[in-house]
Amino acid sequence: MKIYLNKDEMPTHYYNITADLMNKPLPPLHPQTRQPIGPDDLKVLFPMELIKQEVSAEPYIEIPEPVREAYAIYRPSPLIRAERLEKALGTKAKIFYKYEGGSPSGSHKTNTALAQAYYNKQEGIKKIVTETGAGQWGTALSFACAQFGIECEVFMVRGSYDQKPYRKLIMETFGANVHASPSELTEVGKSQLAKDPANIGSLGIAISEAVEVAAQDEKAHYALGSVLNHVLLHQTVIGLEAQKQFEKVDAYPDIVIAPLGGGSNFAGIAFPFVGEMLRGGRKVRAIAVEPASCPKLTRGKFGYDFGDSAGYTPLLPMYSLGHEFMPPGLHAGGLRYHGASALCSQLLKDGLIEAVALQQLECFSAGLLFSKTEGILPAPEANHAIAQVIREAKAADAAGEERTILFNLCGHGHFDLAAYDDFLQGKLEDHVLDEEQLKISAAGVLDQF
Ligand SMILES: *Cc1c(COP(=O)(O)O)cnc(C)c1O
Repeated sequence: MKIYLNKDEMPTHYYNITADLMNKPLPPLHPQTRQPIGPDDLKVLFPMELIKQEVSAEPYIEIPEPVREAYAIYRPSPLIRAERLEKALGTKAKIFYKYEGGSPSGSHKTNTALAQAYYNKQEGIKKIVTETGAGQWGTALSFACAQFGIECEVFMVRGSYDQKPYRKLIMETFGANVHASPSELTEVGKSQLAKDPANIGSLGIAISEAVEVAAQDEKAHYALGSVLNHVLLHQTVIGLEAQKQFEKVDAYPDIVIAPLGGGSNFAGIAFPFVGEMLRGGRKVRAIAVEPASCPKLTRGKFGYDFGDSAGYTPLLPMYSLGHEFMPPGLHAGGLRYHGASALCSQLLKDGLIEAVALQQLECFSAGLLFSKTEGILPAPEANHAIAQVIREAKAADAAGEERTILFNLCGHGHFDLAAYDDFLQGKLEDHVLDEEQLKISAAGVLDQF
């Protein structure tokens, strides 16, 4: 069963959960002065409209008409009932998923890329510099920049650059200029390579490189594909559409599940439902799923930490493993980030959402079962959500309860075939993170002031 929306039923506004929170997240702090940052501190990197969204407490923010028109290339995305997966599991649970892999980048990232490119264009910006981990964000921003006539420069984590040459090539077809990170083009990159010429890179390092380049060019800005409030805001189109789609079939999810790297696709699908609950509406369990090898929500520390590894970005109030944490070369590249968005962190701290960490072998098995039954090969990141969906369906059956479960199939895995190949050949293994090591890296997270 596929539940479609007409174009004229697409959301006209983003939903800002900050408006409905009793405890708003703490303010970001200046990396040097450690005082709350103001709009002026962010002006070198972001357009004013996005800075306003970052601090807004308005519940609804209008989606500009040109952005809605660009969304219409691939939105609304379908809400699909995974009937064949349900049958294979023999579960009584009703499992629905929102499929974001139909976008030009193959993931949800296009939802914020288009909005960010638009606001930058409005402010006369000529070039956007960014980082990409697994490659989805770089692809999304390359496409969005092409739509709005802006140059795009991407620092791509070396590990992915080598593993996924096709990701780099698709960015180039959209017109982007792509470098492997760490690179010789920035001070941060050079210092990392001096320490270790074989450095496979990390999102933290790539962010530092992109920020360094953007800050030196007046006509250039930086863009982030996750973590920040405005990014989460743009992704709420996913959950808002899902709410309308559920209305059409008179259903409602008891549980909403998504993988969490920085928090944007999780927030995108879950926040509209959590907001409904906060305003006295129906209860929902929202579960963020992270990899056991990068477990910031379940084993990290809540405090202030940098968004990048070099300490250029503001200090953000979040669950973090420490900004120098180097996750193992995990295949779900999009989940290798050391921290989690301030909003997701605050909601978890306040018990409004849940978090679990899963090992990768269970996730890949779940992804293959999904692919065989539903006919879509999921991104390895999305496999984390699917594995948890299966756990929840089984738990509901065991308890004799009928549950409706919604998850975010945030991307397809067509560029991740090397990862599936490794899995099928038995080359992947589960990682156990040493508690002592975690303690050492988490010492980089500062206590709340
Ligand atoms: C980027 C990405 C993620 C992780 O980022 P979030 O901001 O947590 O959503 C997960 N899945 C896919 C497919 C991605 O591209």
